[in-house]
Amino acid sequence: MAKKTRKFKTEVQQLLDLVIHSLYSKKEIFLRELLSNASDAIDRARFESLTDAELVGDHDWKIKISVDEEARTLTISDNGIGMNADELDSNIGTIANSGTRAFLENLKSADKTSDAEFIGQFGVGFYASFMVADLVEVITLRAGENETAYRWRSKGDGQYTVEETERETSGSDIILHLREDEDEFLNDSRIRTVVGQYSNYITHPIVIDATRSEGEGDDAVEVSEEETLNSMKAIWKRDKKDVTKEEYKEFYSHISHDFNEPFETIHFSAEGATEFQALLFVPAQAPFDMYYREGHKGLQLYVKNVFITDNCKELIPEYLRFVKGVIDSSDLPLNVSREVLQDDVLMRRIRKSIVGKILGALKTRQKKKPDEYRTFFEIFGRVIKEGINSDFENADKLKDLLVFHSSKSEGQLTATLKEYVERMPEGQKEIYYLTAENLEAAQHSPLLETFKDKDYEVLFFVDPVDEWISQSLTQYGDKDIKPIDGGDLDLGAE
Ligand code: ADP
Repeated sequence: MAKKTRKFKTEVQQLLDLVIHSLYSKKEIFLRELLSNASDAIDRARFESLTDAELVGDHDWKIKISVDEEARTLTISDNGIGMNADELDSNIGTIANSGTRAFLENLKSADKTSDAEFIGQFGVGFYASFMVADLVEVITLRAGENETAYRWRSKGDGQYTVEETERETSGSDIILHLREDEDEFLNDSRIRTVVGQYSNYITHPIVIDATRSEGEGDDAVEVSEEETLNSMKAIWKRDKKDVTKEEYKEFYSHISHDFNEPFETIHFSAEGATEFQALLFVPAQAPFDMYYREGHKGLQLYVKNVFITDNCKELIPEYLRFVKGVIDSSDLPLNVSREVLQDDVLMRRIRKSIVGKILGALKTRQKKKPDEYRTFFEIFGRVIKEGINSDFENADKLKDLLVFHSSKSEGQLTATLKEYVERMPEGQKEIYYLTAENLEAAQHSPLLETFKDKDYEVLFFVDPVDEWISQSLTQYGDKDIKPIDGGDLDLGAE
């Protein structure tokens, strides 16, 4: 194949421009992004090697960081899956991550300077390289296609080239030709610090060549050895009490591309009939792809520390799709097939257990910090409400998580069904609601008069999904839930 020059898709160039002109202060995150890609590439190769005879064998999986001070390059190499020519085009010529894509679409209207700061909150993946490099090269050989390797090159100026080259083993080298003022990334100790801070939990060794002198006096010789920079202990396998808040947060950013604090961190180990570890995060901000079904990634499933898939719909119900995290089971076989995942008692047990934990954690938060919970509910309530019509097993728990506006709540979302019942005056037997277009219309509805006179509270169903869930939301405890305009009301004595 002759050298080919191609243009980036518009959205990629747009992202690149933002990255390059970003005022973002934490440039070092480019390393985290590249190490994370390298780790994913090894996960994929390792997974394929479990089932593909050609790839089976002992692999010394690792990620290597090398510095060439003279050439002023920083190289991140992995012996993972690699990419063929088509994959190079489709993976790093376009934007695969649906969250990033949605983010870019939202940007079109916003003003550019704030975008540049904003971008720091998103994982821009591979393209983050251009924050520190003015030329990036990728040399890659796809595992299982041990013939032609490719060299991808770009200056981030709208185009890239692809040509054939050679590489001995499968995997990728990402070579960054550092910009003038980015010499700090040629410095060993700077690299160590960044790896320690952002990539410690990566489960494959991240190594760097370290030299030390051996022997004494005139006999002393410099020996160079690979040194592993990360602890490699999967964070979810560690004891909860040994993991710091910062470590949880870093790991959360790694899997979610959200750089805000998570709203809840749920880390537990299930023992007994089904054994697994779970590390789950409830975000504080809605993921951009919360309402995009296509390309949406779910929880990551590991089996005995080996990444299996992040596309296993059976692990968590749709109404909790904003939850991010990892499940690691030791009960599934490593070469588990999709069919098994789709219909497995084990998966159902895991799902049941994690749903219980998530709903439980939300309930505790609601009890302890009702204000924070309300803010959360304003963002995620609409998605959680989907559960009312689909997860009947957890109906009671879900009902307790709902928060509504009401005739007594003065504009804030303050009425839970429990609070409502506690506030019910003597003589009131039922729970009442009014469906309206919006809060204002509800507040001014003439239908409320009778209820005000009796001091009966009325819930306002003003979210478009409220009407839909009212089909399933007909009872709370022993109380019927009824629309005030529905007739058939038992309003008490008079
Ligand atoms: P993301 O990692 O969020 O998908 P990136 O822009 O970082 O986005 O990478 C895009 C894609 O390029 C990845 O999904 C992957 O398919 C491919 N890729 C990136 N780095 C590597 C690598 N070191 N080895 C193999 N494939 C890679």
